[in-house]
Amino acid sequence: MRLTNEHKELADTVKKFSETEILPFIDEWEKAGIFPAHEVFKKMGDLGLLGITKDPKYGGLGLDYSYGVTLSENLGYSESMGVVTAIGVQTDMATPALARFGSEELKKEFLVPSITGEYVSSIAVSEPGAGSDVASIKTYAKKDGDDYIINGQKMWITNSTQADYFCTLVNTGEGHHHKNKSLIIIPSKLPGITVGGKIDKLGLRCSDTAPIFFDNVRVPKRYRIGDEGKGFTLQMKQFQEERLFVAASLLIFMDKCLEKTVEYCRQRMIFGKSLLDNQVLHFRLAELKTEVESLRALTYRACDQYINGEDVTFLASMAKLKGGRLIREVSDSCLQYWGGMGFTWNNYVSKIYRDCRLASIGGGADEVMLGIICKGMGTFPKESL
Ligand SMILES: Cc1cc2nc3c(=O)[nH]c(=O)nc-3n(C[C@H](O)[C@H](O)[C@H](O)COP(=O)(O)OP(=O)(O)OC[C@H]3O[C@@H](n4cnc5c(N)ncnc54)[C@H](O)[C@@H]3O)c2cc1C
Repeated sequence: MRLTNEHKELADTVKKFSETEILPFIDEWEKAGIFPAHEVFKKMGDLGLLGITKDPKYGGLGLDYSYGVTLSENLGYSESMGVVTAIGVQTDMATPALARFGSEELKKEFLVPSITGEYVSSIAVSEPGAGSDVASIKTYAKKDGDDYIINGQKMWITNSTQADYFCTLVNTGEGHHHKNKSLIIIPSKLPGITVGGKIDKLGLRCSDTAPIFFDNVRVPKRYRIGDEGKGFTLQMKQFQEERLFVAASLLIFMDKCLEKTVEYCRQRMIFGKSLLDNQVLHFRLAELKTEVESLRALTYRACDQYINGEDVTFLASMAKLKGGRLIREVSDSCLQYWGGMGFTWNNYVSKIYRDCRLASIGGGADEVMLGIICKGMGTFPKESL
């Protein structure tokens, strides 16, 4: 991924947006346990930031995925993984399958307003009994004439208390669990839908996460994305953008964690000298910075592969795995050097420590990524995965 002047211009726009439209409001939104997604997304839509990689026919900018990575990365200047996660859901988790495989009608109805920022979206895959094991979801869409009637429950759904629609994985048949599912767009205000209360989480406090209940919800069949029975495959493809987004979005959070720690340790006097003036700190921080740059290189390489139309599953899974583990290491190591201050709630490093813990769990836990990587290496027999 070679950064051109156009990438730099986009990076500046995203940085400015993050620092003026998100960062000043974070404390307020964290306390409220929610951020105004419609308001923030509309402003992003006006700047063209929600459809960077999407087709101009639907309001997108039609740029390649390297510009999507520039967006994810530079959103880090917002200092809020809660808001960044919500944006990632909109750009890289709930809409990629719709953009690539949705019908013309569906794209006009749901993709266009997602790009302008008028609609807020959710991706609804996980269930109480099916997180890592996506294939075992139970939500069922029964055919009834031109409609589906949907019953079931989704769990942990980001943006769900504010969403206008959910891109939902459901069972539409009885056959093999990889061939009996479909992705269906379900408008959030339909009769029979209840969104439960916000879940009280360790981090990402300003991002709303809630369960969704479907009780005989009638949805037209034309709201299905792609062919019936192809939902599992489409969701696995959609996960690749999610994983690239997650890996890229962690980079600036880690850079800042290290920078802020250097600044703090430089001015903190201990035993008559600056805390930073201990070689053990220099070396540890240098080691971590090297790791961050390695992740950046891996993520950019995965992005190049994706742009070339190659299957990016192997590298995207590695980047997601490495990103989740590295941000835990960076935030934990930095927190240590802040001493008691690192253990306080309103501290950048402790916030990253809490917020980014999810990166090793959501969108496929570390162990799920390892399983995929093993499969790519040919070290596991296929049937054991
Ligand atoms: C804040 C938040 C936001 C989320 N947002 C969304 C969303 O918008 N949409 C959505 O669909 N889902 C969302 N999720 C759900 C998330 O994707 C799941 O939590 C995740 O996939 C893990 O599923 P689980 O929680 O059911 O854990 P489980 O599947 O019960 O797994 C528990 C643990 O088991 C371990 N494990 C898993 N597989 C293996 C294995 N093969 N071998 C060894 N160990 C293993 C892992 O360590 C894993 O963390 C969100 C979750 C959270 C917490």
